[in-house]
Amino acid sequence: MAEQDRDVDVVVIGMGPGGEYAADTLAGAGLTVAGVEDRLVGGECPYWGCVPSKMMIRAGNLLAEGRRIGGMAGAARVEPDWAPVARRIRSEATDTWDDAVAADRFTGKGGILFRGHGRITAPGEVTVTLAAGGQQVLRARRGIVINAGTEPAVPPIPGLAGTPFWTNREAIETEQVPGSLVVLGGGAIGVELGQVFARFGSRVTVAEGASRLLPLEEPEAGELLAAVFAREGIEVQAGQQVTGVTAGSRSPWPVAPNWPARRCWSPPAAGPTWPAWGSVRSASTPPCARYRWMRSCGPRPGCGRSATSPARARSPTCRCTRHGW
Ligand SMILES: Cc1cc2nc3c(=O)[nH]c(=O)nc-3n(C[C@H](O)[C@H](O)[C@H](O)COP(=O)(O)OP(=O)(O)OC[C@H]3O[C@@H](n4cnc5c(N)ncnc54)[C@H](O)[C@@H]3O)c2cc1C
Repeated sequence: MAEQDRDVDVVVIGMGPGGEYAADTLAGAGLTVAGVEDRLVGGECPYWGCVPSKMMIRAGNLLAEGRRIGGMAGAARVEPDWAPVARRIRSEATDTWDDAVAADRFTGKGGILFRGHGRITAPGEVTVTLAAGGQQVLRARRGIVINAGTEPAVPPIPGLAGTPFWTNREAIETEQVPGSLVVLGGGAIGVELGQVFARFGSRVTVAEGASRLLPLEEPEAGELLAAVFAREGIEVQAGQQVTGVTAGSRSPWPVAPNWPARRCWSPPAAGPTWPAWGSVRSASTPPCARYRWMRSCGPRPGCGRSATSPARARSPTCRCTRHGW
């Protein structure tokens, strides 16, 4: 059923940090402002982005610091526990993903909030498909602000759609730390979330198609982070495109090149439901072959530079050409 049309000065579509700021400021200046929001007033940042992720990082940093006490400041036993992190995200950051406070802040300034999906249907006209049912037509005398923000991008990798996976939203909402985790994408969000889960005990592999982590930042940043990740036991697969995801097969590893099995498999045999990664296939150089080779001679300094040919390294009987074992 269509509601009565409303005339306002400005319609803001999308009440994330950008839209909320614009809407609050315009309403505070005395204009009649309609805010249209499909999900939560405040957008990604307070509920699935900046704020809860920084709480997670703070907790992870505490663990990392605690682990450095030995030999520097005494002795400490560090036992990670995700429960307080999840609790703080629920109660202190997101109000259990309830935006009442933000919505009241806007309406308290005289703004009119419409919950639902907005579309521009004519010049100066926005039609809202209301979450509660029905449609609302809004006519904007002064203008329409489009602040639709972003959605988590799910890459078109064969097999991914049929595999339970997380985006940043599930990662932020989780009540449990997965036993292992493959993070697709070594940009800022991938590395920060990956490191947090690793510090809480997850075996993490970060896959990045570009040649290094943080490809949008200065090369030094990615290199430094790779060194930190190596120290913290986080595996990095850079310079390789992930070409397939297979859900739920522990072994054998069906397609080569392939990552080492111990890293590709995620879910514990009997555990909570969380992203059930199976094997993750990647293109370009076969890293597991390289590892196999390095496993046989890795401890010897300089071995990495004397690698056998990829074909030889791929063979289960490959040997270090320098040391012959
Ligand atoms: C894990 C993570 C960590 C981050 N950490 C930081 C950080 O530390 N610092 C930082 O600065 N940034 C960080 N960001 C980025 C930050 O969250 C975004 O830059 C910010 O949320 C963008 O704000 P926005 O208003 O443009 O869009 P969004 O926050 O995406 O909000 C857009 C809103 O529009 C709504 N919407 C879209 N289309 C419609 C429609 N047709 N009708 C009605 N409503 C609609 C959506 O429901 C959404 O609520 C992080 C992001 C993530 C995911």
